[in-house]
Amino acid sequence: MRVHEPEVEVTDEQLLRVHTPEHLKVVEDAYKQLNLIRRQVKIDADTVVSPGSELAAKRAAGLVVAAVDDLMSRSVEVKRAFVMVRPPGHHAEADKPQGFCLYNNVLVGVAHAQAVHGIKRVAILDFDVHHGNGDEAIAMTDRSRLYASSHQSPCYPGTGLTPGASGPHKNIWNVPLEPGAGSAEFRAAWTKTLLPAVRRFKPDAIFISAGFDAHAEDPLASVQLSDEDFSWITKEIVSTVGNGRLPIISVLEGGYNVVSLERAVRAHLEALMKA
Ligand SMILES: [Zn+2]
Repeated sequence: MRVHEPEVEVTDEQLLRVHTPEHLKVVEDAYKQLNLIRRQVKIDADTVVSPGSELAAKRAAGLVVAAVDDLMSRSVEVKRAFVMVRPPGHHAEADKPQGFCLYNNVLVGVAHAQAVHGIKRVAILDFDVHHGNGDEAIAMTDRSRLYASSHQSPCYPGTGLTPGASGPHKNIWNVPLEPGAGSAEFRAAWTKTLLPAVRRFKPDAIFISAGFDAHAEDPLASVQLSDEDFSWITKEIVSTVGNGRLPIISVLEGGYNVVSLERAVRAHLEALMKA
C-alpha cells in the first residue's frame, strides 16, 4: 500500500470533459463572492461554498485524475486506489452543482481515463445511500459507460426510481431500496441485478462512488447496513467483477457519522487491498 497526498488541482480542461462552461462559471462566481465578511455563498439550499471550498474541490477532482494517472502508468503494480476527498461529487450533473457536490469527481476521472489512457469501457458502481443523479446523467448518453446504483427511495435527490435497466443505451442500472432496508435487501440488489449487469458489460476499469451513508448509524437516511456489508460489497466488486485484475478507483462520496464512517471506510480499504 502507498499513501500519497499530491497537491494537484484539477484543470479546466479536465473539468470541461464532463461539465459545461456555464457550470464552471456558476462555481467560480460563488468563490468570487466570498470575502472577509461574506464567509459562505449558497449555490442551492444545501450546496454552500466557504473560503476552503475552491482548493478542496479542485484538489478532490484533481486527486481522482492523479489516481487514474498513477494506476494507468506501466511502472505501477498497484491497480486499486481509494481517493479520500471531500466535497463529494456524484450529485453534480454536467451543468448543475448540487447536493454538496461542486464537481463530479468520479466522472472527471472516468473521462480522463478514457481521453488520455485509452480505457474503453468503464463501469461506475455507486453504493452511496443517495442516488447518484450526476453520475447517471453524465454516463447515460455514452454507451461506453455503465452506471449501477443501489440507493434509498424515497430519498434525496428523488431520482433513480426505475428498477433495472434504463436510458437510451440501457446502460443505467438502478435498484431503489425502501427506507429501513438492511443487509439482505442490499446484498440481493447487488447479487441479483447490479453485479451481473456489470459483469455482462465487461468493463476495462471500475470506478466506485463509495458513499458510506447507508450505514445504520448514519443520520442522513435509514438504510441499515453494517461495517461488514461494506467489506462484502467491496470483495464482490474486486473478485467477481474485477477478477482481481481490473483497475479499481474508489472515490469517497457521502458518510455523515464520522465514527461509523471511519469503521466503514476501514472495512472497504481492507477488502480493497486483500481481495
Ligand atoms: Zn449520500
